[in-house]
Amino acid sequence: MASTIRLHVEHPLAAGQTVALSREQAHYLFGVMRKGVGEILEVFNGRDGTWTAEVAEAGKRAGVLICRERRAAQRDPPDVWLLFAPIKKARTDFIVEKAAELGVRRICPVQTEFTNSERIRRDRLQAHAVEAAEQCGGNFVPEVAGIAPLGTLLDGWDARRRLLFCDEALAGSASDLTDLPAGPWAVLIGPEGGFSAAERDRLRASEAAHPVSLGPRILRADTAAVAALTLWQQALGDWR
Ligand code: SAM
Repeated sequence: MASTIRLHVEHPLAAGQTVALSREQAHYLFGVMRKGVGEILEVFNGRDGTWTAEVAEAGKRAGVLICRERRAAQRDPPDVWLLFAPIKKARTDFIVEKAAELGVRRICPVQTEFTNSERIRRDRLQAHAVEAAEQCGGNFVPEVAGIAPLGTLLDGWDARRRLLFCDEALAGSASDLTDLPAGPWAVLIGPEGGFSAAERDRLRASEAAHPVSLGPRILRADTAAVAALTLWQQALGDWR
């Protein structure tokens, strides 16, 4: 059986609500997927849960859906953010996609001393997060923030949000993630070049930071992001 098409929309969702499709969504639904009037799909907006919707109008560049019934309640991920230093384009895309699938509230690209790429296309990364949510059956889309210097973020950091500082200098030492305190968290992953000595000193002195090892091997940043979020979800998140 073909799986149901899922679309993220901006509109409020309620029974009988009409939802205008964007040009891209109309092209995807009617041009690529060959769907037409009467077809049932799922829609979500990140606030109102998951709804079934029926295609009421189908055109090449536009279309209208009518919301029918709520299929699932809104389910937000636990309050964990991912902070990461952007790397090469495809690997940065991978990090955003996997973070959205694994379940984070917010994705914050950070500029560190050794960050490979200081420019990011935020709209493109946000679109990857939307696509990941559409494909993984979730109904929440994490916001991708604009890139900010790590120092600036730390200056304004709310100490109540703990920071799982993945420190490659600890590779090989034992880390116990089973006793982490509950509450809001962020996971921090460095760039290919790792953290500078000054950054490491500052992070280690921070009240919010919990420096951890991700095992005996040095992982690529994209692997490290997936591993750290998996460990966090298992210890404190909604996988338990
Ligand atoms: N160039 C650095 C080096 O050789 O030590 C490695 C940086 S690593 C490719 C990128 C990021 O992944 C690190 O800054 C860290 O956040 C995380 N990472 C990778 N392996 C890790 C490990 N074994 N323990 C903790 N963090 C790790």
